[in-house]
Amino acid sequence: MKSRVLLWNCDGYDPNRIASIIGRGMDVLGVRPKGRTMVKPNTVVAHHRFYPYSFTRPEFVEGLLIALRERGDEISELSIGERCGITIPTRFAVAEAGYVPIARKHGARIYYFEEYPQVRWQLRHPDALRPFIFVPEPVINCEFLVNAPKLKAHPWTKMTCALKNYMGLQDSDHRVIDHDYNLHTKIVDLQEIISPGLIAVDAITAGELTMMTPRPRDLNLIIMGTNQVAVDTVAAHILGLDPREVDHIRIAAGRGIGPIDLDEIEIGGDLTLDEAIRRAEGFELSMLKVDEAFNGKSNLHCYVGPPPDPEGTDYCWGGCPGALYETMESLARSWQPNVYHEVKPLHYVFGRYEGPIEAKPGERVIFVGDCATYEGEILGHKVKIRSYYTPRDKIDPRYYSSHLDLVLKILTWAWTQVKYLGKPYVRIRGCPVTMAEHHLYLAFSGGTVNPYFEPSLVFSFMYHYLISHLARFWRTKVLRLFRRHRRKVPDETQAEA
Ligand code: SF4
Repeated sequence: MKSRVLLWNCDGYDPNRIASIIGRGMDVLGVRPKGRTMVKPNTVVAHHRFYPYSFTRPEFVEGLLIALRERGDEISELSIGERCGITIPTRFAVAEAGYVPIARKHGARIYYFEEYPQVRWQLRHPDALRPFIFVPEPVINCEFLVNAPKLKAHPWTKMTCALKNYMGLQDSDHRVIDHDYNLHTKIVDLQEIISPGLIAVDAITAGELTMMTPRPRDLNLIIMGTNQVAVDTVAAHILGLDPREVDHIRIAAGRGIGPIDLDEIEIGGDLTLDEAIRRAEGFELSMLKVDEAFNGKSNLHCYVGPPPDPEGTDYCWGGCPGALYETMESLARSWQPNVYHEVKPLHYVFGRYEGPIEAKPGERVIFVGDCATYEGEILGHKVKIRSYYTPRDKIDPRYYSSHLDLVLKILTWAWTQVKYLGKPYVRIRGCPVTMAEHHLYLAFSGGTVNPYFEPSLVFSFMYHYLISHLARFWRTKVLRLFRRHRRKVPDETQAEA
């Protein structure tokens, strides 16, 4: 039987109109939610002023909740669940996205995934990156998942839609494992956790170029389906891509998760695929390597060597360089429009780089990531940078902690400044080095704006940070001990999540 994908015209963010379209789509697809039903939006980051187009809009989520409630006689619990971008408390992003009053209005609970115990989940496919991963308890308990991504360009993976939205099913510590040159395969591995009962894509206003600060592009479109690969295949065509060019769609199709050929997909709804493609004509994607993006076009100079990938990838698309690209783009689009030229000259080195580094006096060299290596001269100093990279097969998710707490990151950054005082270079550890760290180093060494110190955000951010940590401590330590003691069951949650 062919997979069905529905394309609906929707010219605006009216929750009732969205509810009626999604309800119609559910009837056409024959979908009825039941049991513990969770909506998983894309809330990588959200803020009405600085990040207005990066997330599934609250009106869209509200429309979904209305449609689910109307057809939800068998729903036992309705919820919204998310883990937003690394180092940001999900409570902060969800509050800024405007989901809290909507959840209250429609009797939906909110699950902030990093605050729950992380449960071991066995992966079955022989090509999976590792035998098991960890997944938040509410995801394991979910019986009907509604995948509600935002359709956007993505500078590491070309595009983000249904498959990629699963990255937000893991908390930060587990999300960063294999968030490197293996990112596409990791995305596909995550599909083993749960098949969605329904997919509804917010493409009313899609996002061009970047994922955190995308340029808004009105497509007036809702895409629906029940198969992630089929939905992403259609979405890729709409954005002008051959779905086989998007590695995670190709790998997922290769594993039999869904169809990648249009003739295996039945398209319905009130819009033709040709009309949807016409609406997205000229949609701008960006997939630039950092040296192509910055060298000669900004005061940053990037030197890129290959990451230690046994299969011979020459660039770590899902890791440190991509994070620097997105950081600079996000500064340029939301914080400091001329940052490309206002940033002080800096030299960034990634991977196993072997050529010269042309720093002038007063210009700092930054070696980024655990895999960076170098042997040579910088401003007359002999420098030898050794690799701290841990081979992927030596990482055990049961004991892995990437120390992604933001306050810890700020302290580590401060200590690194002291450690490298007087040296023409600095070494940033991590695999990957996150956008938060790039912001800190760019601000300190390059004089750029630091969003983490923005006065209008600090109070709200720290409030949600503290509540989040308390809730996490309560659920993952106190309640967990209590449960173990009461039930005397073997503990499958991670020792230190
Ligand atoms: S350290 Fe960074 S560049 Fe190197 S493999 Fe890890 S994520 Fe990729």
